[in-house]
Amino acid sequence: MIDALVVGAGPSGCRVAWKLAEAGYSVAIAEEHEQVGDPCQCAGLVTPRTLDYLGYRLPVLQEMRGARLWGPHDSYLEFEALETKALVIDRPALDRSIAARAEKAGAEIWTGTRYTRGWRDNGGMVAELRDKSGMQQVQTRLLIGADGPASRVARDAGLHNRREVMAAFGGDVSGYATRDGYVDLFVGSELAPRFFGWAIPTGSDTGRLGVATTLPHRPRKFFRSYFHEGAPSKVLNGAKLTARISGLIPFGLREPAFTDHVLLIGDAAGLAKPTSGGGIYTGLVSADAAAETAIAAFEAGDLSVAYLAEYQQKLRNRIAGELQLGARLRRAFLALDDAQLAEIIRMLGDPAVLEAIQRVGDLDYTSRAAFAVLKAQPKLVKFAPLLLKPFV
Ligand SMILES: Cc1cc2nc3c(=O)[nH]c(=O)nc-3n(C[C@H](O)[C@H](O)[C@H](O)COP(=O)(O)OP(=O)(O)OC[C@H]3O[C@@H](n4cnc5c(N)ncnc54)[C@H](O)[C@@H]3O)c2cc1C
Repeated sequence: MIDALVVGAGPSGCRVAWKLAEAGYSVAIAEEHEQVGDPCQCAGLVTPRTLDYLGYRLPVLQEMRGARLWGPHDSYLEFEALETKALVIDRPALDRSIAARAEKAGAEIWTGTRYTRGWRDNGGMVAELRDKSGMQQVQTRLLIGADGPASRVARDAGLHNRREVMAAFGGDVSGYATRDGYVDLFVGSELAPRFFGWAIPTGSDTGRLGVATTLPHRPRKFFRSYFHEGAPSKVLNGAKLTARISGLIPFGLREPAFTDHVLLIGDAAGLAKPTSGGGIYTGLVSADAAAETAIAAFEAGDLSVAYLAEYQQKLRNRIAGELQLGARLRRAFLALDDAQLAEIIRMLGDPAVLEAIQRVGDLDYTSRAAFAVLKAQPKLVKFAPLLLKPFV
């Protein structure tokens, strides 16, 4: 019986495996794809904090210090921060770099291996895995679900709950001329219904763009018209789509995200930020919380639900508060119609507000900027009943 079986070799799964292997426990990761990091389902935008948290350097393609916000009714806002607020990275390289550290620490990575189901047995879990050679059963003391938004581990463990899921489409473009160091964001019911679109420069004439929204009836057609006629056409100026990505972004922390012999981390636990959809940083934080909880549980010889409850407490202390505030901000955002959104974007152009965004703007802790902005622009009080409703 191995100590821990991690399902999914994304950043969260590789990180928890790394930390457990480093502490001397036997760990394997089952990853359904043949290569860690493929296919990429990410725009690769992270905060500098994320790389600091990882604890080693990775090549950075671009540093972002500004943003252009394109809203409904030709509303527009541009701001530049005093320091770098986000970094554009090579996402597959990030996943592989963490996987390499997990392997170096002693973890095994079984690529091309799909987890099909699991059940409790003999003081642990049995996981059924399928690879090219067929089915096999693996016994483990702890099963860690790091298997992303449609987590099968969560379903088998009875930890699934209803939550909002955004569909995200995107791609790489060439011939894209924008301002270096500026990310373009698109909001409004026509531009990007219910969430937002983005365009990020990655090189001198290349970029990544995308949109996250409720799952459209005909996704391919939706993305084609979004790309050619929708929001990005404002800045793309004839750019060509060279690669496509798509994926799901789930919102809503699973509570609980643990049961006897099972922990969920990253997107499987619903840790993507409701304000930006980013989930790399929160996934890493949850992986460390899971590793610490698991190590204490292994030492105590107790992997019961009562003992693993410590994991949810760690999540609450480290990240869940911000996710809850983010969920409320999202509800406030959804309550606005296009005219109100346009008016707010214009109000945000006030120098005092821009200064507040420059000072406290933080992609990982968006609520800090939101409250600073409310303070800096008294005219927003007009929208207080709408904006504050989700908070009361
Ligand atoms: C289009 C798009 C753009 C995004 N852009 C950003 C961004 O710029 N910045 C940011 O921070 N976040 C972004 N995100 C969110 C981010 O990608 C996720 O939050 C992050 O990948 C979560 O990491 P994870 O390790 O929890 O899960 P994942 O990275 O989803 O990894 C899950 C792994 O589990 C594997 N798996 C799934 N089921 C099984 C199974 N049954 N058996 C074996 N293996 C399995 C999958 O193959 C995958 O490798 C974006 C998401 C999308 C969809």
